[in-house]
This record gives sequence, structure tokens and C-alpha cells, in this order.
Amino acid sequence: MEDTIFGKIARGEIPTDFVYEDEHAVAFHDLDPKAPTHILVIPREPIVSLADATAVDSALLGHLMMVCAIVAAQEGLEENGYRVVTNIGAEGGQSVFHLHLHILGGRQMAWPPG
Ligand code: AMP
Repeated sequence: MEDTIFGKIARGEIPTDFVYEDEHAVAFHDLDPKAPTHILVIPREPIVSLADATAVDSALLGHLMMVCAIVAAQEGLEENGYRVVTNIGAEGGQSVFHLHLHILGGRQMAWPPG
């Protein structure tokens, strides 16, 4: 896959304040927040999107979900709830082609999403 801004962030080439990091994933605030809390969780390994993941990535995908839960708790979102979203491809609204999970919280979410 082509390198992306998130690849550079994951490799530490763009200085970024991580709200969480471990061997496999990092989390940081979205540049253009769509909710009072808007954090992105990305794998260090570059995967384009969920559609490009394979069975080999199963444990990593589960880990990313767990990181979302850890970060949401850390940010105090557990009590009122929050949303975790991943956009895939053009119609899914994906604009950065390095897999990422959005954690959105701090306001009432609408359903269905636009
Ligand atoms: P998506 O549209 O699902 O691909 O989401 C990409 C998200 O990345 C958008 O919410 C952008 O605001 C966010 N974004 C783009 N560049 C950066 C950056 N350098 N740092 C933090 N967030 C970014």
C-alpha cells in the first residue's frame, strides 16, 4: 500500500501526542473533531482498511477494538456511551487509506449515520 499520513504518525515521523500506544497500535486526537471527543486508533502495521484485512489480522483487529474500549474508558466516555466507527472505501467515506477506528463521544449520536 502507499504510505499515508497515518503511516508517518505511527512510525513517529510526524510528532503526535498519543493518548495511548503499545507495540501494535497508537491512538491520537482527530485533527478535525466531529464530536467533543474524537480519537483515532490505528495499527502500527499499515493495512489499507478492514476490506484489506485477512484472517492473519484477526488478533490485531480484536486488539484494536480492545484499545478503543481502553481509550474510551480513559477519556471518561463509558458512563454515557460512545461510538466506534471504521470507514471503508469511497462510499464508506474513507479519506485516509490506513485502517483506523474512530472513537466518537461526548454528545448524542444520530442513527442512521449520514
Ligand atoms: P476517514 O474519513 O474515516 O478516512 O477519517 C480520516 C480522519 O482523519 C478524519 O476524521 C480527519 O479529520 C483525520 N485526520 C486527517 N489527517 C489527520 C492528522 N494529521 N492528524 C489527525 N487526524 C487527521
